[in-house]
Amino acid sequence: MRLTSLKLTNFRNYGKLELSFEDGIHVFYGDNAQGKTNLLEAIFLCTCARSHRTGRDEELILHGENFYKSEVEFLTDRGLEEKVSFAYIQAEALNSSRSLRKMSYNDIEVSNISEMIGLFHAVIFAPEDLQIVKGGPGGRRRFLDLLISQISRPYFRALQRYSHLLSQRNSLLKIIRERGSANRSSSKRTDMAAGGPGLATEAKDTADDIETLELPPMTIQEELSVWDRSLAAEAAHILKQRLDYVEQISNSASLSLAYLTDSNEELSLKYKGIGGISHLQSEGEIAAIFYARLQRSAEDDVFRGSTSLGPHRDDLEVNLNEYPARTYASQGQQRSLVLSLKIAELLLLRERTGERPILLLDDVMSELDSKRRERLLEIVKDHQVFMTGTDKEHMFENNDDPTQFLTGGQERSMYFYYVKAGSVTPV
Ligand code: ATP
Ligand code: MG
Repeated sequence: MRLTSLKLTNFRNYGKLELSFEDGIHVFYGDNAQGKTNLLEAIFLCTCARSHRTGRDEELILHGENFYKSEVEFLTDRGLEEKVSFAYIQAEALNSSRSLRKMSYNDIEVSNISEMIGLFHAVIFAPEDLQIVKGGPGGRRRFLDLLISQISRPYFRALQRYSHLLSQRNSLLKIIRERGSANRSSSKRTDMAAGGPGLATEAKDTADDIETLELPPMTIQEELSVWDRSLAAEAAHILKQRLDYVEQISNSASLSLAYLTDSNEELSLKYKGIGGISHLQSEGEIAAIFYARLQRSAEDDVFRGSTSLGPHRDDLEVNLNEYPARTYASQGQQRSLVLSLKIAELLLLRERTGERPILLLDDVMSELDSKRRERLLEIVKDHQVFMTGTDKEHMFENNDDPTQFLTGGQERSMYFYYVKAGSVTPV
């Protein structure tokens, strides 16, 4: 696909902006803090309703305003002209107690992010992405979740349901814990799970009923079992998909790394979750194993007041030559690893959706040596690319005529835009 236009209203340091684009490579250049990354951020936002830099929509509103909107028009590889927009309106502008996120697809409002994700495809590689290798597991889970969600809407919905069920289970764990300590201190009843079946919010009344009926008290496991079954079903879907995708990304990223760096260095990925599950098992088998593990950890979970295992705790191990890249790889190697993962994401999205995603490169070119730069552009020669940099000469130092940059023998049109204080001038 290719982006044909970008419209911004009150987005970061842009009051109003309208740009249209051809296919090819688009370069935003200018001094620091002028709004180059903001442009890529606004484009990326339309893939998944989330900035790559912040989870706080408030930050994206132009100071002094009370809403922002980013809108993209794009032409799919199937030849369809489409439009996606995302807006965020502060509560005060609506005279309401709640702010509003508004999404639309071809001018029709959609109510759930799951209906927006997977329409417009872009892959971003920004300095923050180094955290995929260097940072904690959350960034790696996000990388996987975003990739799979763009391909599979059922996966995104499973994530939403899993997160909802998880917070309900965690609330119940806390209620059981508090009830347990209350019972212990009054010493009237000694069993922690005397609350009986069902809803945590009705625990007290139900406990009275059970006493009158003289039923045996439920164990913690029994009390949690309804939640655990539902949670296990969602977790199994998520785990199965993650395990499958990790296999595929691992191969593709490893090949990309070899090509980019011209070396024999080996990248491998390993999904780290509860033991005893693999991509060779069915979703049903994974659900059964996960359910058993949840039940086994029930008492510990009550003690902690939270669920100690599951897709929300898992990690993706990134290894270079079989050593953990986080501690073993140099800064430059970590950059190449993340770039390889991003290329793998791009290629997988392309293969699975039949659409060529747009590539957004924030401050990447100046960090790569000329060979890696050339290889990168060779790999993405069929994709529309948007990139930023401070100095246009430095980004293409080896090319006499950067407007007709040659990649792998293929001519690509290049477009330059000078960005200064929230205004963008094609040059
Ligand atoms: P660099 O080359 O340093 O990466 P950049 O051109 O990519 O710079 P951006 O991150 O795109 O810079 O934009 C930063 C500018 O946007 C800063 O001047 C910052 O003050 C401004 N900015 C960020 N958020 C807002 C906002 N909500 N309202 C107004 N201005 C904002
Ligand atoms: Mg920037």
